[in-house]
Amino acid sequence: MEAEIITIGNELLIGQTIDTNSAWLGNELGLIGITLIRKTSIADKESAIIDAIKEAHSRVKLVIITGGLGPTKDDITKKALCRYYDCDYRIDESVIKHLEKIFSSRSRELLESNLSQSNLPSISETLLNEVGTAPGMWFHKNDHCLISLPGVPTEVYHITKERVIPKLLQTFKLPIVLHRTLVTLQKAESLLSAELEEFENELPPSISLSYLPSYNMVKLRLTQKVDKKEAVSIDLYYKKLVTTIYDDVFCLGDKDPASHLAQYFIKNTIRFTSAESCTGGLIAQRLMQEPGISSVYPGSVVVYSDETKIHELGIPASIIETQGAVSESCARAMAESVREKFNADISIASTGIAGPSGGSLRKPIGLVFIAISKKNTTVCESFKMFGTRTQIIQRATNASFWMLKKLLAIPID
Ligand code: AMP
Ligand code: MG
Repeated sequence: MEAEIITIGNELLIGQTIDTNSAWLGNELGLIGITLIRKTSIADKESAIIDAIKEAHSRVKLVIITGGLGPTKDDITKKALCRYYDCDYRIDESVIKHLEKIFSSRSRELLESNLSQSNLPSISETLLNEVGTAPGMWFHKNDHCLISLPGVPTEVYHITKERVIPKLLQTFKLPIVLHRTLVTLQKAESLLSAELEEFENELPPSISLSYLPSYNMVKLRLTQKVDKKEAVSIDLYYKKLVTTIYDDVFCLGDKDPASHLAQYFIKNTIRFTSAESCTGGLIAQRLMQEPGISSVYPGSVVVYSDETKIHELGIPASIIETQGAVSESCARAMAESVREKFNADISIASTGIAGPSGGSLRKPIGLVFIAISKKNTTVCESFKMFGTRTQIIQRATNASFWMLKKLLAIPID
């Protein structure tokens, strides 16, 4: 089944907001066997909305629109939908109850404009929005289906997962789409693809392999469209994929490497900490996303300047004077000192030059030292990262996760 997405909002057209909704929706629809064939962004303008819906429905039966459902005058999607379907408004009591609950929990007065969010086109079915005030709407007329969602991404995610996907699966006969994903770190996409050439050539036509790179992480996803729920052949190929590039696999499934590490620390009661210079706290921040991490995470430090490295961690000034803050000795001293400071089992330290200035011939931009310290052992590796400041920081963080996995021999599943 094919679908189109229309994103509505003046902010999308002047570059103030980047349209992330359609990227996310395209992926979610793909997972249930719906192929997105076109996405269109339009202004908050009634004629533009009506024209875009008419055009999209002339090509596909399923159209999803986002945006323009706020309580303010600039949001006019509902009005345009009433005109398109030639219908009136109805009041939805369940939405009023939900609005009253939300506003009383936030100790805010429910204004007339907020209450207007319970006025919905009469032929629509309500898609309740527990995380916001504007409900989504489902229209089904003459075998054509239109789903209208708010613009706020978290609300799009919530309504789609809780309401839209189950209803689509119930309404349409969709093919079964199977996915198997794994995460690799440190190896470039082109090198992985060279190693996987034979594997890819042997894939049956029903199975495809996608590369999803970001920084020095590449997610590999096998996808198979089947009529019956038979996972046999995709699992066979997944096993083969894992075996072919085993040394580069960080973890199985579609996970953040940080989450995989954090789960391992929690499960094995390994107390960890970090002393971060060039990664500025990103190592800690990413590991912190895992619920329950507090049981193994006492704290960490960001020591950006030479002074804080000396005063907060007791790094000998002589190391900084003779070898510089971006050096193997400094990284090692940071890792050892922070491990002691927080009485941790394992620690990570990062120091490097993220750019765009500050590089030299001997110490170029992108030079990063990462040290990991555990009882009786401290190891340090130097990396030459490339890219912008943000890319270098992200890559250095992923590199530290890779070193941890190797040093602790953390299993991939
Ligand atoms: P609206 O439902 O039009 O009131 O949108 C509320 C907010 O959601 C806007 O101010 C945008 O910041 C955000 N937003 C709207 N459309 C999109 C989109 N396609 N992708 C990402 N964010 C969006
Ligand atoms: Mg808007």
